[in-house]
Amino acid sequence: MAKKHWSVPATEALKADGLKIADLDTSGTPGFDGDKAAGQELLAERTVVLSGLQEKLYANGRSGDLRNVLLVLQGMDTAGKGGIVRHVIGSVDPQGVDHHAFGVPTEEEQRHHYLWRIRNALPRGGQLGVFDRSHYEDVLVVRVHNLVPQKEWEPRYDEINTFERELVDEGTTLVKVAMFVSLDEQKKRLMERLERPDKYWKFNPSDIDERGFWPAYQEAYQAMLDRTSTDYAPWHVIPADRKWFSRLAVTELLIDALTGLDLDWPPANFDVAEQQRRLAQA
Ligand code: ADP
Repeated sequence: MAKKHWSVPATEALKADGLKIADLDTSGTPGFDGDKAAGQELLAERTVVLSGLQEKLYANGRSGDLRNVLLVLQGMDTAGKGGIVRHVIGSVDPQGVDHHAFGVPTEEEQRHHYLWRIRNALPRGGQLGVFDRSHYEDVLVVRVHNLVPQKEWEPRYDEINTFERELVDEGTTLVKVAMFVSLDEQKKRLMERLERPDKYWKFNPSDIDERGFWPAYQEAYQAMLDRTSTDYAPWHVIPADRKWFSRLAVTELLIDALTGLDLDWPPANFDVAEQQRRLAQA
């Protein structure tokens, strides 16, 4: 019942395998047959499921389990990364969330290898880590704007794969999500940011300049998907023109990742009956 309206599970329907971004219908809802109302209703149900699973992850982490889940969010400006954090991650217990947003590297970060700041932000056992942008910026914006020469960014794809292999071997389940809006939808969303005082804070004049680099970004995103979607850390591609769909889709991907950990409540590390007796007498 819980999966109603999904004709194909989200993990399958959103797989990046062989997908060409240029062919993507950003207003589509792959695998999902319902409309907005059905999607929103399901989202409300599924965030409860997500929250329950995340509590179990957190509880296990408190009991010494080193496993964790790391959501990696990538997408062009206005793709809705912030909305995922607010509406999906916002539905779980913040104690168990380890959120990091990665912007232009600080002076200190620039003095280190590009993975340095990433390694410093990795979630501990039991945490649901969230990367709003990530090490992938180092093969996206860096590639598009030639911030380092090609001979420097080119080896990063393999290096990132090796890095992620290590993370997985150490107990991290990676959920990598690339969100795509159309140029038209992006224009609408930027326009709204300029029309509403409560949205000015989200606007950055350079977002308009970046639109001119759309084809270069498409190429860079395609290379990222082609070269860093692995069996141990696959990419998922989310058509993001419909916010309700992208939120539902990411919720399903997280539920799938957490379910895969096959978590149970950690057993008591004390004699329950004895403690009940003691408490009755206290
Ligand atoms: P957002 O646009 O996600 O709301 P910010 O306004 O902080 O957040 O913007 C983040 C900016 O930092 C983006 O333009 C992004 O391309 C840039 N950025 C992130 N990582 C890097 C990096 N490694 N090198 C250069 N720029 C980066």
